[in-house]
Amino acid sequence: MSFSHLGLNPNILKAIKEQGYVNPTPIQKQAIPIVLEKNDILAAAQTGTGKTAAFTLPLLEIMSTQQNKGEKKHHIKALILTPTRELASQVSENIQSYCKYLPFKTAVIFGGVGINPQKAILKRGVDIVISTPGRLLDHISQKTINLSKVDFLVLDEADRMLDMGFINDIKKVINCLPKKRQTLLFSATFSNEIKLLSKSFLSNPKLVEV
Ligand code: AMP
Repeated sequence: MSFSHLGLNPNILKAIKEQGYVNPTPIQKQAIPIVLEKNDILAAAQTGTGKTAAFTLPLLEIMSTQQNKGEKKHHIKALILTPTRELASQVSENIQSYCKYLPFKTAVIFGGVGINPQKAILKRGVDIVISTPGRLLDHISQKTINLSKVDFLVLDEADRMLDMGFINDIKKVINCLPKKRQTLLFSATFSNEIKLLSKSFLSNPKLVEV
């Protein structure tokens, strides 16, 4: 099966071709159709499996369709939470390459660096935010981010976020999001804690394991 069978638009296909991707990885084959059908997913996937494209490509496809229906303004439609700044940067770089031929802007947000440049980027308007939980809460409390129109939440490496003690931060962030949204949870392991998290925040998730 090739990427062209997965229902992605030509602008996405062109960008992934430029990345040198020929065939979808197993997690991409499984997850992309499920996400395109607007389901929540609970996916077991390690780094290196192609999980970033597995969640990003279908979100970009849905966002492109909505854009074509007339939603031209930049506002945050997708929020991706990651445990570390390194992962946030890496995910952001990947997403930017997949967005090369799409009109979406991204912002990457993490602590340990000045908050003002991040505020300026958010103020100019972005469509996708990739963030670590702590700094995101700073922006929320300073009202420098508007999450009221988020359609998609991705919890990337959720087990690591829990190991790092981010559970309360994650809960606080999720409380600021619309209830009506699509939620994708990626985790290397399915511990009881992950199952609890998914019970609280996912709605009838489809299970994806590779
Ligand atoms: P990830 O698991 O998202 O960290 O991806 C691991 C690596 O695989 C990254 O360098 C991606 O650019 C690459 N990758 C993702 N999907 C594909 C694919 N379908 N074919 C080839 N490489 C891929």
